[in-house]
Parts: sequence; C-alpha cells; structure tokens
Amino acid sequence: MRRHLTLTMTIALGVLASSITTTAAQVLQEKNPLSKPTTPLYDPCGFQKPTPIYNPKDPVQKTLGDYASLPQIKTEMEVLAKLHPSFVRAGTLKGKTVCAQSIPYISIGKNVTSDMIEEKWNAYIEGAQNFGGITLSGDNTAPWKQEVVGLPEDFITENHQGKPQILFVGGLHANEANPTEVLVKFYQFLIREYSKVGPDPLVKKVVDNSVIHVIPLVNVDSRRHLELNPGKTPRRKNRMVWRREYQNNDDANQSIISGTAGVDLNRNFAYNWDSPDSDEDSTTPSGNFYRGPDAASEKEVQGLVDFIEVQNYYGELKLIVDMHDGIGPEFTWNEKARDDFQKIQPPVDQPHLLLLGALNAIRVSAKTAQTLLIEDHPMGGTLEQYADDTVDYAIGIELSDNRFFTSGDQPKGQPTLAETHFQKLKWPLLKLIKAVCKACQK
Ligand SMILES: [Zn+2]
Repeated sequence: MRRHLTLTMTIALGVLASSITTTAAQVLQEKNPLSKPTTPLYDPCGFQKPTPIYNPKDPVQKTLGDYASLPQIKTEMEVLAKLHPSFVRAGTLKGKTVCAQSIPYISIGKNVTSDMIEEKWNAYIEGAQNFGGITLSGDNTAPWKQEVVGLPEDFITENHQGKPQILFVGGLHANEANPTEVLVKFYQFLIREYSKVGPDPLVKKVVDNSVIHVIPLVNVDSRRHLELNPGKTPRRKNRMVWRREYQNNDDANQSIISGTAGVDLNRNFAYNWDSPDSDEDSTTPSGNFYRGPDAASEKEVQGLVDFIEVQNYYGELKLIVDMHDGIGPEFTWNEKARDDFQKIQPPVDQPHLLLLGALNAIRVSAKTAQTLLIEDHPMGGTLEQYADDTVDYAIGIELSDNRFFTSGDQPKGQPTLAETHFQKLKWPLLKLIKAVCKACQK
C-alpha cells in the first residue's frame, strides 16, 4: 500500500518535474533570441495590412466602395463553412501567387464534404482493397490521380456515380469589379436561402442534388494591390506589384504599376495558347493581352486548372461559367451547350434565353446582348476555350460595357450595380445549374 503510494508520488513528481523542465526550457528559449525560431510571414508584396477605408470625400479615390475586399471574401467563406458544415466547404486553390497569396473558393452542396474528390477517393480505395488485389500507379503527390489497375468497369461506375458539379469563376481580370461582387452575392444567396425554414424549392433542389463551386476572385494579386492603393487605375493583368525575384518575364523588373509587366490570365490557359489568331499584342510582354512566357505559366492558372482536374476526375464537373465585364453584354456558349440547352422545354426554362434576357436588362449602353459560340472566338488561351475542351458545357458571361463601376461610384441610396446585376441574374443562373443536373429537374 505504502509502496504503491510512493510509486504514484514518484510518478506524479516525475511528471511535474518534466513539466517544469519543459516550461523552463521554453522560458529560456523565449529569452534567447538566437534559439527562438523566427518565421516572419512571407509577404513579398506587402499585402498583409488592413484595407484602407473608402473615403467618399476624396474625389480622386475610386475604390471598391462597399464591395467585398479579398480579405473579407476569405474570412466570410471560412465563417460560412464553419456555420454550415453540412453543405458548405471553403478552401483555397493549390499553390500561392507571386505575392504569396492564396485564391479562395467555396463549395455548396448537401454533404459537400463527402462529395469532395479526395475523401471520396479514400473511401473508394478502402472499398477496392476489400474487393481484392489492386495496383496503384501514377502521381504519388495527388493520390486521387493515381490509376487503379485491375478493377472491373462496373465497380468503377457503381462507386463513382457522383452529383453533377458546376464551377463559377470571376475576377480573372483585375479591372472588372462586378463579376466578383455578383458571384459573392450568388454564394451568399444560395447559403442564406438554403438555411431558411422552407427554402425556395429550386435552391433546395440544386443544393441537394449538385455541388456548386464558386471562385469569385482569381486575380488576387492585382486586386489586392488595387484595394491597398485607392485611386490608382486598375489594370487588367496579374502581378501588379513589382517583384524582383520574378525571372520568367523579361519585363518583370519594370514597375507593374506602369502596366508593362504581368500576364493576362485569360490568355494563359493551355488550350489554343499559341493560336495564330490570338490578339496581336498577346505575344508582347507590355501588351494588354500578354499571354505569358508559356502556356499555363501563371500560378493562378495552374491552381485553377488543378482544381478543375481534381473535381472533374470522374467527369462530374459538367459546367464552367466564366464571368467578365467590359465588352458586354454578351453570352458565350460552346456547341454542346447550344445544342442541348435549346432542347430544354418549355421555352421559359431555357437557361440561355433567360440569361440573354437578364443581360439585356442589365445592359448599360444601347447595345443588345449578343450570343456567340466559344468555338468562333478568335483569341487563344482563354478559360472558356479550356473549359470547352475539358467539360461538357462552357459558358461565358460579359455583364456589361461598364468595366470598373463600383459601389464607390454609385449615387447614395441607389442599389449598387452588382446588386442590380445579381437580382437580374440569380434565377437564370439557377436555371443554368438545373439544366445540367438531371436530379434537379425532377
Ligand atoms: Zn475580363
């Protein structure tokens, strides 16, 4: 009895002593600057500071006004995913930009976590291992990209009948504020509506039966530069900030604020990248449409392509919508979308007609919204073309011809341009999702 007590005491003292030792070591470490590991935040472009508050009294200042900034979008996505874990997931694309920033995305769909490809892959492998001997080959860094050899075809189809996925992309161009804000409003609306008691039936159907990914802001570097430098003219291209380390581009050492460096992300995708019909200045580094030194040379494009490939591994990514502003209103679709969407009945359910109607309604100039085929577009390396080559349905939307009109330009008391656009577009966009989601049509 006594012996047992002593033993317990010894152990207790031992634990205490070791905890004291640890604490002392920690204290020592903190007092000695040499032994303290210092890991300053890698921030080559100086972006890790608060966004300046919009000053309406400054007539030169043309900022985003109350449009969401990049840090606001990131934080909101994370909060929404925490609040609604059963149908919202937030993340960032693989890799970082030259300014060490990540590109945020949000995914919405019932049980979205278990629908994500990585987790599904793990479950799949477990099932396959129980099924019998399998061999894995391929890329070890992305296990879900490995090939499974020796499984019967019916096992694969039975285990990978997933929900259709839809991807909305905005903000490839930094000088287009409205697509980003419209897409932010769109994911906010879907989440708010689905959380209601008695949600809208169409919202419920699409969230229950599909997975909707939204990447509202791809060109995070140039956009963040703009947010921190109110009053500066926004530029189209990425890498708005001079960065000495950057080697690929001959003009990289020139100030990007002068507009000479940087790549047009929507000319950098690896499809028709070196098309002879591309814009003339797409091969000139100082050109407004510079396509970059190589196909998919840019981190933003690489991250987006990786996301698309992973989500589409089993062919579940059905539709990619790329939203822009400035030369619209314009609705672009690929041939498959044109052929299939025209078959949808009744006419009021035809998503392209609804979208055209919406674009006509939101047009700023007297120009009428026009429809174009992606296959007929002359320029190369665009997301639309890459999407057309990769998934079933590809859609491009040019909102208006009013490129950088933000809430900072809005007369007081008026709804913002993005709000007006969003109200006109939200139902057509939902019908677009419904059109590629068979289970949503029941
Ligand atoms: Zn654009």
